[in-house]
Amino acid sequence: SDPFSTEVKPRILLMGLRRSGKSSIQKVVFHKMSPNETLFLESTNKICREDVSNSSFVNFQIWDFPGQIDFFDPTFDYEMIFRGTGALIFVIDSQDDYMEALARLHLTVTRAYKVNTDINFEVFIHKVDGLSDDHKIETQRDIHQRANDDLADAGLEKIHLSFYLTSIYDHSIFEAFSKVVQKLIPQLPTLENLLNIFISNSGIEKAFLFDVVSKIYIATDSTPVDMQTYELCCDMIDVVIDISCIYGLKEDGAGTPYDKESTAIIKLNNTTVLYLKETDNCFYCLLNVGDQQHAS
Ligand code: GDP
Repeated sequence: SDPFSTEVKPRILLMGLRRSGKSSIQKVVFHKMSPNETLFLESTNKICREDVSNSSFVNFQIWDFPGQIDFFDPTFDYEMIFRGTGALIFVIDSQDDYMEALARLHLTVTRAYKVNTDINFEVFIHKVDGLSDDHKIETQRDIHQRANDDLADAGLEKIHLSFYLTSIYDHSIFEAFSKVVQKLIPQLPTLENLLNIFISNSGIEKAFLFDVVSKIYIATDSTPVDMQTYELCCDMIDVVIDISCIYGLKEDGAGTPYDKESTAIIKLNNTTVLYLKETDNCFYCLLNVGDQQHAS
């Protein structure tokens, strides 16, 4: 059977106060919007926005918390939604006063946990591009401490929160999303194992399995991930998609710009060779080959 069939699409909720950056994250990660364009995104007044991205491996919804609307309105079936959720990402604007966000985080996590104890709670300490390195670490420590103290005070220290420092202006948002998605994939150990066998038999340095639409990596072999390699691979995907969209369509514009036959090799001037191959409708296997001889 197809391990990537739609039933296993991880369902993710993206929540946080208004203006924390949820729409921007969605646009940048899933719609290739450039970070600067998010400055002009319009805020909406809806309590709940849904966006299910069909072509991507990830299936998710965004929920806003406009201060004045009570999200736990009885007419709103949050129980049903929490029940079907694999991960709840809560976005906190690190450049703003985050006390209200922390209160919302606590309320949301405790409500969600009552409905579904299996949800992964993921906290994105977002917009850290505006903070100095020291300030980043201090903010993370402070948010981590306060959020866990609140849980302990409520007798809920068994709830585990994971924290990530993110920004749409670099690859940290893709990296964080990758980690969140990977936790939801039951086949992850098998995929990692296959990639390990693959690299040990091919002389390839590092292999990633990407969701090409979002540039989230679904799996990689067990050697450590180096941020620069990951960024190179992301850049390669952009180049290949852009070129495919220009030259990959038939003259009448029919067909898809890239398909199962798609493949690309990029040689850099430092002996690194990048090899990209589509393996499924939305998956590319992207490889960083350390030595040109193996590229053939
Ligand atoms: P939402 O209401 O939670 O959907 O928030 P938006 O996505 O509308 O974002 C609010 C503002 O934050 C926009 O002006 C974005 O450009 C800005 N923003 C989002 N992410 C980042 C980030 O990582 N860094 C910085 N500096 N600004 C961001």
